[in-house]
Amino acid sequence: MELAFTPEEQAFADEVRGFIRDHLPADISRRVEHDLHLTREDHMRWQQILGRRGWHAYTWPVSQGGPGWTATQRYLFETISGEMNCPTIQPFGPRMVGPVIYNFGSEAQQAQHLSGIRDSTVWWCQGYSEPQSGSDLASLATRADDHGDHYVVNGQKIWTSYAHHADWMFCLVRTSREGRKQEGISFLLIDMKSPGIEVQPIPMLEGTHSFNAVFFTDVKVPKANLVGEEGRGWHYAKFLLEHERVENSNIGFSTFALRRLHRMARTVQHRGRPLIEQPLFRAKVARVEAQLKALEMNTLRALSSMGSGSSPGAGLASSLKIRGTEIGQRLTELLYEAAGPAGQRLDMALAHGEGDMDGIDASVRGAPANYFWRRAMSIYGGSNEIQRNIIAKQVLGL
Ligand SMILES: Cc1cc2nc3c(=O)[nH]c(=O)nc-3n(C[C@H](O)[C@H](O)[C@H](O)COP(=O)(O)OP(=O)(O)OC[C@H]3O[C@@H](n4cnc5c(N)ncnc54)[C@H](O)[C@@H]3O)c2cc1C
Repeated sequence: MELAFTPEEQAFADEVRGFIRDHLPADISRRVEHDLHLTREDHMRWQQILGRRGWHAYTWPVSQGGPGWTATQRYLFETISGEMNCPTIQPFGPRMVGPVIYNFGSEAQQAQHLSGIRDSTVWWCQGYSEPQSGSDLASLATRADDHGDHYVVNGQKIWTSYAHHADWMFCLVRTSREGRKQEGISFLLIDMKSPGIEVQPIPMLEGTHSFNAVFFTDVKVPKANLVGEEGRGWHYAKFLLEHERVENSNIGFSTFALRRLHRMARTVQHRGRPLIEQPLFRAKVARVEAQLKALEMNTLRALSSMGSGSSPGAGLASSLKIRGTEIGQRLTELLYEAAGPAGQRLDMALAHGEGDMDGIDASVRGAPANYFWRRAMSIYGGSNEIQRNIIAKQVLGL
């Protein structure tokens, strides 16, 4: 089977390449290339450049101010961005809450929030998980009590990525204890500057700060910030999670990691010869590359079924999440292996691009931090065990 892009698609790919070549700041590109830590400012700078071109909310339809790209165009944009060392676009605004707001939010919410997401002037975070409610998310206990024109929120969220950077949170709260536990959940938009919110950092295994615990003590949230209907939050949350899981196939990241693996395997020496000439290592690279190609085809299939906002279906979304994260993790294992003894040192100053470089290749320095960080891929967005349960129940009918 030969797969080829049409002349129009090739022209589109050239346009994307040209734009990135002309606009991606060199300092950001260098940090991504070498797996070094990115700041909020780095992310926002690149996302705002994309926003000015109309490409930050690149999955949105034209009716919502997005580019209205086809599945193939989105795929090309993601893989080329990965190949050319662009930072991953933070998904919380454009891929997560944005589609929820334009599908289920009020006109006032759309007017207030969509442009800030499109232009990347506002940073969002996701308040779903709680200390006793991760996989069993529907058991969540953070309470929103009805006080007429506003709710009063009390409780705690945990593992909230980049809450310390965020201006707004989309949050699942319990508005009722009647009936099935899913039916008492509502979807609120919460201004992170509201009095009563405390954000506490949780250090990551490899030493960076992206996780937080978020505490709510008598936080007043206007009723106007309720998305859709009270008690229908579970429905909106599931819509969001299915989209998140397709995104979690991580094609852009894996394409980028594979390219770096090729480069390292050609330059790193093993017994006086390039590592790629060692048959065992070469076979490992070939195997993961073939798996990635198969995943790309399945992801394209899912994206084309999603169209502009429709659901990919829980089974397909879950299988892409499992496969995408397994392949992403495998690639970081091989990068760590390729880095050899020089890459075993987990030094945060070096991973941040500071300190003495000692002539060590920057990718080698990033390998251990990246390896540890990517262990999380099979946990976030719903753990892979839970995805297997979904497939067993919804696809196999077990
Ligand atoms: C890097 C990262 C970023 C994250 N960012 C966010 C965020 O921004 N916002 C947010 O709300 N959450 C976030 N999370 C939280 C994430 O969604 C949860 O960690 C995840 O849903 C698992 O929940 P838990 O940690 O409570 O684990 P638990 O639910 O306690 O699970 C522990 C283990 O038991 C297994 N398990 C549990 N139940 C079953 C079952 N029924 N069958 C089989 N196995 C089971 C799980 O697979 C897991 O291995 C993030 C997590 C990570 C790692």
